[in-house]
Amino acid sequence: MADLLKDILPFLSKSETMPVLFLGHGSPMNAIEENEFVENFRKLASNLPTPSSILCISAHWYTRGTFITATERPKTIHDFYGFPKELYAVQYPAHGNPRLAKEVKQLLQPVYSEETDEWGLDHGTWSLLKNMYPEANIPVIQMSIDGTKPASYHYELAKQLSSLRNKGVLIIGSGNIVHNLRMVDFQNMNRDDYGFDWAREARSLFNQYILDKNHQPMLDYKNLQSAIQMAVPTPDHYLPLLYTLSLQEKKENTYLFNDKMVGGSLSMTSVVIA
Ligand code: ZN
Repeated sequence: MADLLKDILPFLSKSETMPVLFLGHGSPMNAIEENEFVENFRKLASNLPTPSSILCISAHWYTRGTFITATERPKTIHDFYGFPKELYAVQYPAHGNPRLAKEVKQLLQPVYSEETDEWGLDHGTWSLLKNMYPEANIPVIQMSIDGTKPASYHYELAKQLSSLRNKGVLIIGSGNIVHNLRMVDFQNMNRDDYGFDWAREARSLFNQYILDKNHQPMLDYKNLQSAIQMAVPTPDHYLPLLYTLSLQEKKENTYLFNDKMVGGSLSMTSVVIA
């Protein structure tokens, strides 16, 4: 899969509209650890057109209603427990972009959203950006996921953001497609591409839908195979993918990378739309 990434990279830098990404963020440790996943995040970022700003829809900002970060200096939120001290020391001092936050609010209308200074950048955002843009020199805002709404709502809402792509804004959905934390096999976290049978089945079903641009079944995922129910026990890490897929234009292609399983019940599969 790394080869696939290599093949598409030269093409990405030439794309006129900003590509859209879904990135499997996995463990927060990816912010400070070295592995093939973060290496690919870096390669990808260095071959994208330089974004004017970044808008991240992170699995870890799951709210009642829709919120947008609107501070000049968003704080780095360490929203996890029981990790090494080193990880809590990580700061990602990117600027925010209150003007872009206002524009997003307008684009989302008639859906009501609120600008807020009560959030910042959670690890769904900074653990990726730390690798992709280590200098933190691109402004970043986050938009929350309204957890009271169904998948189809999020898919439709995302379309309202499409004009941002022509303004150089890099839109990133951050989650994990197969994400069943209760079933993670922590003894086998470092085993290469280690996935339970149901997790592998769910991954290949999802990959096929994504590559075929067949999004409708993904909106009705609750009616799909039991493997998919195991893979998506809660919607938080899945919905960011729908934001990304929704922004795909007819002529655009889909590329997968980091398409590996971790700990039996997680996938790192990431998507580039360009
Ligand atoms: Zn997560």
